[in-house]
Amino acid sequence: MLSKKTAVITGSTSGIGLAYARALAEQGANIVINGLGDADEIEKTRAAIESDFGVRCAYSAANMMKPEEIATMIGNAENEFGSVDVLVNNAGIQHVAPVDEFPVEKWDAIIAINLSSAFHTIRAALPGMKQRGWGRIINTASAHALVASPYKAAYVSAKHGIAGLTKTVALEVAEKGITVNAICPGYVWTPLVEKQIPDTAKSRGISEEEVKRDVILSAQPTKKFVTVEQVAALAVFLCSDAAASITGSLQSIDGGWTAQ
Ligand code: NAD
Repeated sequence: MLSKKTAVITGSTSGIGLAYARALAEQGANIVINGLGDADEIEKTRAAIESDFGVRCAYSAANMMKPEEIATMIGNAENEFGSVDVLVNNAGIQHVAPVDEFPVEKWDAIIAINLSSAFHTIRAALPGMKQRGWGRIINTASAHALVASPYKAAYVSAKHGIAGLTKTVALEVAEKGITVNAICPGYVWTPLVEKQIPDTAKSRGISEEEVKRDVILSAQPTKKFVTVEQVAALAVFLCSDAAASITGSLQSIDGGWTAQ
């Protein structure tokens, strides 16, 4: 479905982003992965995408807190592969603390990585998409783009922000063959969720097991974590011709969380 197309996925060295990268590669797209991590592990991940799916895969170490590095990542992808047709804004971090104790540098980092980086990638990738008359922009938002939880002020603010960015850009390019949508997962078992469990336990004064049972899975009526493969399959659908009229939408994939 995506042969001769190129997908750039920010924050794709682990978790949901890596699942997007592999699912889009399976559809024949050349891939640019991005994110932090151990260099040897990243090289293994990159090489596995090439060998498993017979596509080309490059790695960009661009820091999503740095606008110049983001612009260079998109420019390099266009030079190396000829185009950026699918842009998935997915890099994200979390910090859990009461708002009056929230570290200022964590607020700034979350807004930069989870929200502003998507503005920077979009403004760099959009001219090429407009020129070719085809594009798919997918922003990983969250159930936290629709509802809040205590102690996640920066994350909830960034995710509500990305919902607004999604709708705005969708309207601006609606007649250009480019769709812009957000995927809003509930809890997906990835390093991001695993890492917040100790802090949530501390903030709420409960055990880590209680966090999993009473905070995390209690939000999801299915009582199951969403899987990374389920989220990636939704992104693949949004890239299809069948999804050409879906734009400016927030796609919930949250086990019923936000239906409550
Ligand atoms: P993850 O920690 O596995 O992945 C995050 C990715 O972002 C990693 O590749 C990491 O290296 C990268 N990253 C972090 N800081 C970066 C920076 N400064 N520059 C470049 N890359 C950076 O987490 P995940 O759960 O897969 O999260 C992916 C996205 O999904 C995030 O936007 C997150 O908010 C969102 N999300 C996750 C869940 C969940 O339950 N896991 C739910 C809803 C939304």
